[in-house]
This record gives sequence, structure tokens and C-alpha cells, in this order.
Amino acid sequence: MSFIVNQHDRLTVQVEDMTHDGSGVAKVEGYPLFIPGALVGEEVEIEVGKTLKNYGFARLLNIKKRSEDRVEPPCHVFWECGGCQLQHLSYEGQLKQKRKTVRDVIDRIAKLPDVPVHPVKGMEDPWRYRNKSQIPFSEQNGKIVSGFYKSRTHHIVDTDVCIIQSEEADELMSTLKHHMFELGLSAYDEKTHKGMLRHLIVRKGRATGEVMVVLVMTKKKFPQKDAVIDMIKKVVPEVTSIMQNINNEKTNVIFGNETINLYGKSVIIDEIGDTKFEISARSFYQVNPVQTEVLYRQALDYAQLTGNEAVIDAYCGIGTISLFLAQNAMEVYGVEIVPQAIEDAKRNAELNGITNAHFEAGAAEDVIPRWYAEGKRFDVLVVDPPRKGCDENLLQTILKYKPKRVVYVSCNPGTLARDLRILEDGGYRTKEIQPVDMFPQSSHVEVICNIEYEGD
Ligand code: SAH
Repeated sequence: MSFIVNQHDRLTVQVEDMTHDGSGVAKVEGYPLFIPGALVGEEVEIEVGKTLKNYGFARLLNIKKRSEDRVEPPCHVFWECGGCQLQHLSYEGQLKQKRKTVRDVIDRIAKLPDVPVHPVKGMEDPWRYRNKSQIPFSEQNGKIVSGFYKSRTHHIVDTDVCIIQSEEADELMSTLKHHMFELGLSAYDEKTHKGMLRHLIVRKGRATGEVMVVLVMTKKKFPQKDAVIDMIKKVVPEVTSIMQNINNEKTNVIFGNETINLYGKSVIIDEIGDTKFEISARSFYQVNPVQTEVLYRQALDYAQLTGNEAVIDAYCGIGTISLFLAQNAMEVYGVEIVPQAIEDAKRNAELNGITNAHFEAGAAEDVIPRWYAEGKRFDVLVVDPPRKGCDENLLQTILKYKPKRVVYVSCNPGTLARDLRILEDGGYRTKEIQPVDMFPQSSHVEVICNIEYEGD
């Protein structure tokens, strides 16, 4: 309920801002309305939809004054699909908008208006960048569909092409879909819990060109297995690994516990800089390898290593940042909560002949205080937490032991700004902030900060 506007009201408004999921925001007497499809700087005619106490939603009817940055979305299912949010904004416009999002929270939440937020480091070619696609299959009105979910639903928007994924993934997604019947395959139906193929996963090593295909199926046995394998090999001759994962649970979780090799190797290799990574069907790995290298080089730059430092990589995942840093530091200690990821990190260290990186599974907020209590000391702490930011206990540990430098990598500028304020109040100074565009066409923004201890 709002007393300022009511459902079905038609108004003309100025779009002033953008939400984190790419909707335009206009204010009517201070009351924010979220308008999907509207861009900052536009004057638009809208129809008010649902209204809540503090904000409401509206439908875009007509653009009276167009943003100079508005473009025709190149993807034909952009307006239905939930995969991308910003294809109607030029790439330059996206980068400007992402920088502004970061600037705003740094001013408002971290209260650091004087700290520079540099222009976003974007991609030269912001398309076809994803090295992993997870494509659901299903049946809609007797027709097999595959593509991506509509935003906030489990409804598949059927498509043969996705221009942010690899061409190999496009080929496999459409060929499998159009030959399901002759291959004796059926698509899984969430409602009836019937059918065989749930997801197709395609992973590609950018540096090596190796391709892995994973078929997530309800049963191990399926007819015409050889024909399916042959078809995949024919469509993508670069394929080096075909895996099958079995998931017969009534769940939204993509993978089941059992993974079987159907053809070739069980892993593919990719490289970031000079460092090699082994990727298995279920390993976590950054999805935009080009920009990952940009991000990690920035982390290395901010860490200012000379070769003598002891470094922590907190929230290290499969140790990608750790292995990158290890080549320039004395010792690196990585900590990560998922034990499987730590196994991958150790294997990847071995694969690269890196002996000065150590990994431990556990919560960063438990393990790091223990390392300090055991007498270990660190010069640089790199943190790359999930969306909720750093645990309070970890921040307090930093403030207690005061490592000279903290490099903060964040996928959520809001929680980053909150944590920066806490560090600032404890004697740290944020020197500079560099956003990096890891997900062109989407509204996500990744940020990296250089933070130094300067005393209370
Ligand atoms: N630095 C890695 C991954 C960052 S994603 C890379 O660049 O690839 C954040 C990671 O934090 C995830 O792998 C997640 O499993 C892990 N994580 C979440 N909570 C954690 C905690 N309390 N302690 C340690 N790791 C945690």
C-alpha cells in the first residue's frame, strides 16, 4: 500500500537510478518505483503495478526521452530470459553504470567520498565470454525445450542460441534438443518426476580449447549411449571429455552424487596467466577466464609482493588467487569452507609445481585466528568472500593483528562498503578501488580494493 501512487495509475516520470538487478528507478515524491527496461536519464510513461510500503513496481509503457546509451538487445529472448539484465544498455553505458553503483555505496555506506573509484575494466569483446553453461532440458506442451530460466522462475525460455556462452555450447544445446527423439532420450519433467535428461553442462578451457560435456540424467542406463556419444563428438570435435552425472532426486540442485566417465578424460585443463588448472565436472571455476586474469593481476598489483611476504588467501575456492600469488611471495596460506575445493587447490598446486602454497579446509573466521594463535604472522591478507561479505570475527581478527595490507575482492559492493567502514574505523585506509567487469550484459559488478594499515 502506498498513499502516493496507486495500482493502475499512469504517470510520466524521470528515471534516476538503477537497481542491482537492472531495473530503472524513478521517485514520485520520494517514493521509489522500480521499472524494468527503463534506463537512467530517460523520461518514461509508466503504469503503476504492485505497491508496497516503501517501494513499488511499474510497467514501462512508452519512452518519451530516450537514453543515448539505449541499444537494441542483440539477443532475441533478452526480454524474457533471466540470464542477462543489461543488453538494452550499450556496453560503454553498462561500464559507466557499474562504476556509479560502486561510487554510490562507497560514498553512502563506507563514507569514503575521497577514495578514487577507477573506471571499470571491461572486455574488448563482451560476448561469448562464459566458459561454462548449465542448460536445463524439459518438455512444454509436448515439445522439448532447453535454454535458460526466466527471471525468478523455473520456466525455461526455449532458445537455440545464447550469445554470452560458447559456440560449442550453442551447437550442443540445439543439436541434442532437435535429435532427442531419434536418440531415444526424453527430457525430465519437474512436476511428474519423469524423463531422463535434466541438464546439459558444457565447460571449455579457454587457453587449451578442451571441452567437457556433462549429461545430468535420472538414470545410469540409457538406450543408444554410443549414438549419443558419437553425436556429441560429431557436433564438437574438440570434445575431450564426456561425463554422465546421475541425479534422481526431486530437487533444484543440478548435480547428484555419482559421476561416470563416458568418453575421454575426466578433467579438462585451463590456464590463467602461466598457471594451469584442472577442472572436473563439478569443480568451481571462474566463468569468465579473460576477466579473471585481469582481476587476479590487479590483486597481485595491489598486494605489492617482493617475494618475502607471508600471504593469506581467505575464501580461496580452488586456490586460483593463491597459486597466482605464490609465484611472487614467500608463503601463501589458503582457507576455504568447501573441502572438495581444497582438494582441487592442493592438486592444482602440485600440477604447477608450486610448493609454497598451503591449504586448509574450514571457515576463514575460525582458521585464521588459529593460525595467528599458533604464532604465524602475515604481511598481506587477500579476502574474496561470498555476497554476504566478511564474517565479523574475521574483521576483528584483522583489526587485532593488523597485517600491513588487505586486498579485498568483492562481488557485492554493498557488503564491501560496510566492511571497509569497519576497517577504516580500526586504522586501515582504503587507497583505491578498481571495479572489474566479470559478467558483461548482467548487472553484477566485481570490485577490488587496496587497503593499508596506517595506525589509529
Ligand atoms: N577466491 C576464489 C573463490 C571466491 S568465491 C576464486 O577467485 O575463485 C567465495 C568462496 O568462499 C566460495 O568458494 C565459498 O565456498 C567460500 N566460503 C564461503 N563462506 C566461507 C567461510 N566462512 N570461510 C571460508 N570460505 C568460505
